[in-house]
Amino acid sequence: KLQQRIHGTTLEINLNALTHNYNFYKTKVNPSTKIMVMVKAFAYGGGATEIANHLQQLKADYLAVAYTDEGVALREQGIKLPIMVLNPSQDAFHLLQKHELEPVVYSPSFFRQLGKYCRTQHVSMKIHLDLDTGMHRLGFDISQLAELKELIQQFPELIVASLYTHLVGADEATHEDFSIKQLELFSKMCSQISVFLGFMPLRHALNSAGIIRYPAYQFDMVRLGIGLYGVEVNGLYDSALRPISSLKTTISQIKTIEAGETIGYGRKGKMKNSGKTATIAIGYADGYDRRFSNGQGYVLIHGQKAPIIGNVCMDMCMVDITGIEVKEGDEVLIYGPGISLKELANQIGTIPYELLTNISSRVKRVYY
Ligand code: PLP
Repeated sequence: KLQQRIHGTTLEINLNALTHNYNFYKTKVNPSTKIMVMVKAFAYGGGATEIANHLQQLKADYLAVAYTDEGVALREQGIKLPIMVLNPSQDAFHLLQKHELEPVVYSPSFFRQLGKYCRTQHVSMKIHLDLDTGMHRLGFDISQLAELKELIQQFPELIVASLYTHLVGADEATHEDFSIKQLELFSKMCSQISVFLGFMPLRHALNSAGIIRYPAYQFDMVRLGIGLYGVEVNGLYDSALRPISSLKTTISQIKTIEAGETIGYGRKGKMKNSGKTATIAIGYADGYDRRFSNGQGYVLIHGQKAPIIGNVCMDMCMVDITGIEVKEGDEVLIYGPGISLKELANQIGTIPYELLTNISSRVKRVYY
């Protein structure tokens, strides 16, 4: 036990595994390719400050967060790496300026607004341009480049640090043709922009899955996310990565249940034969998805599978431990080495990203 458990559930983060995964991706890119690491959404649930600190030691080139406040929190914790903000609030430009955060600018109106702000403040700001090549989420499309050219000339206060795009299906072979189209369009848009900028800023397009599938399109930087956290979504290098987190809890109580009795809310779980249940200290308020109810999920106790029985409650759930030798207070593994996140996610029709980022803030993060 790494530390006394005050709250029942702990997320243990193995920073050596993180280093291992980071180094794995380093071997997959050219020595000159920079690495931007996505530490948005609390570093995919792992804890943004600690992970950003570790990445600073590993000499990552850039960090990225989704929102301005995520960047502010990192700066307040002393993180010095450059930070790109994917979807910055248009009402808080002063925070970007104060904390030297580098916003993504994704539309002409946003460009104009930020340009005017910088002019009034007599400051310049590094920005990143999101180019829409098919995701249709945020970003300039090719038809807006003429307008972009005018804006760039009008507002020299905004310094274009990078150009990027995002692939819609980097992890799926079925989207390979579309991905290549996106990457080629991106390349073309970058060339056009570089002509009116007078230089070529950093270009980046690949996420974790893309790094593996499209090494010829690394450009100048890649954006590493889920892979760092131990999940190789392509399924091509599963064993090369190490899970960085283990979600663990403990057994609060063990009960002997008669055949035919029901377990939990709504009487949804039924014991076919007489046996034993263990009530464990994790529920949907900890981020343990309610869809794991009633046999859709299982946990490992002393390496043995115990299926969830009944509905997952807010702070607890019950598992069938019939035939397993356990006692109250024993440790329970929800996921980590031994239970793959991909398999768990599949079980309830979601993706590992959602499981990782749903771990709630009341779950204690412990680093080793
Ligand atoms: N780039 C952008 C723009 C993203 O939104 C994300 C994650 O959602 C990533 C990169 C990282 O993706 P992944 O976690 O699949 O590596």
